[in-house]
Amino acid sequence: MSRSVADRFWRKVDRNGPMPERCPELGPCWIWLACTDQHGYGAIKRGPPGGSRLAHVVGWELARGAVPDGLELDHLCRNPACVNPDHLEAVTHRQNMERGSHATKTHCIRGHPFDPENTIARRDGSRACRSCKRDRKRADYRRRVLQEAFPGLPGLPGASKPRTRQRSSQEEP
Ligand SMILES: [Zn+2]
Ligand SMILES: [Zn+2]
Repeated sequence: MSRSVADRFWRKVDRNGPMPERCPELGPCWIWLACTDQHGYGAIKRGPPGGSRLAHVVGWELARGAVPDGLELDHLCRNPACVNPDHLEAVTHRQNMERGSHATKTHCIRGHPFDPENTIARRDGSRACRSCKRDRKRADYRRRVLQEAFPGLPGLPGASKPRTRQRSSQEEP
């Protein structure tokens, strides 16, 4: 790409964008100031038949060269208008999907962190919490031990017995 293309490109960029919440150590987002597409990605219009190009991809090419074959760029900062090459990582399509919206949650519903040690990556790209899985296994085990020791005992911990008593007292005065 010629020098003038790079000059014109970086002139349309605000390098004092917001600090990314997930990775402040990477510095501020560089916001594309020209047009964005319907997904919020910076877009560079070219005359027909060129169509348009994604600004963050062009920014990456200017800074680092072509995106490696078969890879796509993932925004580590989750800011689609950002063209900061340091906020972009070349990943496979699958990795990119795994990191999608559901992958931005930092904790499971019980508050365990989705960090590398505690996260189980499922085939479908979603994530499971290792602590919760372990807790479920332990509860299952305890229930089995108790059921073997006291067969027929109702209301063992973890047994899925509906709490009809408490409910009905609230519903009916
Ligand atoms: Zn960014
Ligand atoms: Zn959990």
